[in-house]
Amino acid sequence: MSYVDEVYSKVVEKNPSQPEFHQAVKEVLESLRVVIEANEEEYRREALLERLTTPERIIMFRVPWVDDKGQVQVNNGFRVQFNSAIGPYKGGLRFHPSVNLGIIKFLGFEQVFKNSLTGLPIGGGKGGSDFDPKGKSDREVMAFCQSFMTELYRHIGADTDVPAGDIGVGGREIGFLFGQYKRIRDVYEGVLTGKGLTFGGSLARTEATGYGLLYITRALLRAHDMEMKDKVIAVSGAGNVAIYATEKAIQMGAKVVTCSDSTGWIYDPEGIDVELLKEVKEIKRARLSEYAASRPSAEYHEKKDGEHGVWSVKCDIALPCATQNELDLDDAKALVANGVTAVCEGANMPTTLDATKYLQENNILFICGKASNAGGVATSALEMSQNSERLSWSFEEVDRKLENIMIDIYQNIEDAAKRYGKEGDYVTGANIAGFLKVAEAMKAQGIV
Ligand code: NDP
Repeated sequence: MSYVDEVYSKVVEKNPSQPEFHQAVKEVLESLRVVIEANEEEYRREALLERLTTPERIIMFRVPWVDDKGQVQVNNGFRVQFNSAIGPYKGGLRFHPSVNLGIIKFLGFEQVFKNSLTGLPIGGGKGGSDFDPKGKSDREVMAFCQSFMTELYRHIGADTDVPAGDIGVGGREIGFLFGQYKRIRDVYEGVLTGKGLTFGGSLARTEATGYGLLYITRALLRAHDMEMKDKVIAVSGAGNVAIYATEKAIQMGAKVVTCSDSTGWIYDPEGIDVELLKEVKEIKRARLSEYAASRPSAEYHEKKDGEHGVWSVKCDIALPCATQNELDLDDAKALVANGVTAVCEGANMPTTLDATKYLQENNILFICGKASNAGGVATSALEMSQNSERLSWSFEEVDRKLENIMIDIYQNIEDAAKRYGKEGDYVTGANIAGFLKVAEAMKAQGIV
């Protein structure tokens, strides 16, 4: 059995009931096959792939808190410190009822390669809880965040592990988490990113993942002699990534015609009104039906199983920005039948493996999340730099750096794909480019 297949079987055997983790490992190992096979003996002797697929440390803890009725609630807390070969662990915290260890491990594993691709000195980690902030009062969210940090604080630090936001963790949650860390440790340091601007946050961090997604999509189009102007775009999600992807797409002259949340989706043929979307989602924290109620051109559709939702709409570019496995094979077929040109992932692993394969076989330009959504973590690393030098950079400076990072990532993944005979396969390019730097650092640091 080849080394890649052997390690993948071991991962499945040793990590039962973690399908998302298996899926992420399979995608990466499959595309690394060409590199691994060229160095198989050495990698096998050093158990490089076993070390790469096993987190350095997993922390699991109880998070008790009291709700507004005086009832004690208990949630599970997680932090997976996956790989610190090239820098302190870095990766978001996700608060969503679907969170379990397998999901956090898949996200942490992907984060290792993504962070490497940014070219910045950050290792990979991820964390979160099955706590659902939806429908909770601010006081309940604060009580939960304080309890979560009362355990997490001993495992993180500005030079050790620097968490950020993800699904369900935005500015409000980061503020509560930071406050509790500072109170317990009595240290004012950049231990979290995505902080408010009055206490060490970076300008452009809120916009970074969505803007970065559009910068790399534009680089991809330009490399194929196309422009963003007048392109019709289908976006899924209505959270941080989706909103700022929509905003930047509109600034670039494209028209975004869809968005979605966990209960339904919007088709707005006149183009999404991003200010209205922000008001509904960021300020009122309401459902998307409220967007449709204020916008005559918009159609609201309840989410129904087996339907393609936003992927049934005719578009040139599809940007999945909600959650994992939200674009399956049937959705991919619908997109191809409707003439889509490019699919770039804003979310982490939103496209299933068979859907990815189908898109690639049909010559659709496809960039995977670990490259195309890396703008968020890259700007988090820029926030860390600003915190270390105790200075703040202007919006324009951060945004310019972000755009350059995304263009560099595009170049790197394109070059890596070409170098290994897989021209145009940006998934392979991203995995190889991310892997090589981490592997070299791991080899240099000995068996640790
Ligand atoms: P948010 O919580 O801000 O938004 C998530 C959006 O996706 C919401 O509209 C939410 O709907 C929808 N959603 C979440 N879970 C589901 C589900 N199971 N089914 C259907 N819809 C769902 O998260 P972000 O925008 O920050 O994150 C979106 C994706 O991007 C995630 O995969 C995340 O890991 C990834 N990402 C985020 C980065 C960041 O900087 N924020 C960086 C890199 C990747 P509802 O409003 O109903 O909850």
